[in-house]
Amino acid sequence: MERQLFEADHDAFRETVRAFCDKEIVPHHDSWEEAGIVPREVWTAAGRAGLLGFMMPEEYGGGGVRDFRFNAVVTEELTRARASGVGFGIHTDINSAYLLAYANDEQKARWLPGFCSGETITAIAMTEPGAGSDLQGIQTTARRDGDHYVLNGQKTFISNGILADLVIVVAKTDPAAGAQGISLLVVERGMPGFERGRNLDKIGLKAQDTAELFFDNVLVPAENLLGEEGKGFGYLMEKLPQERLAIAVVAAAACENLLASTLEYVKDRTAFGRPIGSFQNSRFVLAELATETTIARVFVDRCIQELNAGTLTVAEAAMAKWWTTELQKKVVDRCLQLYGGYGFMTEYPIAKAYLDTRIQTIYGGTTEIMKEIIGRTLGI
Ligand SMILES: Cc1cc2nc3c(=O)[nH]c(=O)nc-3n(C[C@H](O)[C@H](O)[C@H](O)COP(=O)(O)OP(=O)(O)OC[C@H]3O[C@@H](n4cnc5c(N)ncnc54)[C@H](O)[C@@H]3O)c2cc1C
Repeated sequence: MERQLFEADHDAFRETVRAFCDKEIVPHHDSWEEAGIVPREVWTAAGRAGLLGFMMPEEYGGGGVRDFRFNAVVTEELTRARASGVGFGIHTDINSAYLLAYANDEQKARWLPGFCSGETITAIAMTEPGAGSDLQGIQTTARRDGDHYVLNGQKTFISNGILADLVIVVAKTDPAAGAQGISLLVVERGMPGFERGRNLDKIGLKAQDTAELFFDNVLVPAENLLGEEGKGFGYLMEKLPQERLAIAVVAAAACENLLASTLEYVKDRTAFGRPIGSFQNSRFVLAELATETTIARVFVDRCIQELNAGTLTVAEAAMAKWWTTELQKKVVDRCLQLYGGYGFMTEYPIAKAYLDTRIQTIYGGTTEIMKEIIGRTLGI
């Protein structure tokens, strides 16, 4: 089914992103996986290539284009390149939304030039050791004291956690006020009392730095409050759909790529004197996956249009997130089976894809939480 989402500008941008991935990422990704982190230089190179700030106003060094189709192009090309360790999406698809919507002019002038150039890498810290799905259960507090907030607490599983220069931290400014007592504070590298823990050892996303963060009486200037005090939970509810759609964009692209590479493999590999793709079982499996992948593609593309139009609902984003990521798990598992023993060898991309896929139904809100969100809209 021909995609109708993109125009000539997006196609041209795709060429730029593809060339960038082929030159700056693909040759190095294996060594980054061994290192457990990507170098800062790939961020600044991406900044120079216009991959990080296209959605930001031109006065801050951005491209001035608010169109999530460009975000989708970057995500799809990174997925095609199997660049699972490059955390650009946290920056461009998630944090950009908070900074654009809630940073004031003074904050934008301070933070956005570095955001666009790749010199300022960003992270968002919601999850804590004791609270992931249950965001309102966070324990991190920020007590106002004169011109500062005194921040105390701990976060975990934070993507870009080691590299980040600027972290949007979710904290309770009024612990007695429930959801109305949550605020977003921007913590910057070097603030006394802000420490990073381990770069966590994961089964997949090996080149992605995922870290614990610690805040011990960090004096965060009041000028670093994002938006208004007490509105943080509302801001998260407003912007989490974009994060979930971004994850669905990865999932749809991953399904397509997995299918394409598996089709190549089953045409080539023979057993009992014939290509394994010619067995009825292989054809049925791949026919099923091709059908579902096409359905995912159509729905995700439509969601991107709805997001651009400002009409994507929280429930629709949740539907896209859970369904496409569960599909991705199914696709990678069924495809791996068709590779036989080779699928279990880490030198085969399908094996790495299997491990990288597993997180998709967990972060950004688990499948179960997505179903809760959808369920609440059904009047039951
Ligand atoms: C690689 C990686 C990167 C991440 N990046 C970030 C990041 O950048 N920033 C950030 O803030 N967080 C990040 N996270 C955290 C991620 O969003 C959480 O792990 C996720 O939201 C789940 O929270 P939890 O791990 O505390 O699981 P829990 O909330 O403890 O859930 C455990 C299980 O219980 C189920 N469950 C919980 N509540 C319910 C319910 N009401 N009904 C039914 N089932 C339920 C869940 O679905 C899950 O299966 C990352 C995690 C990983 C692993």
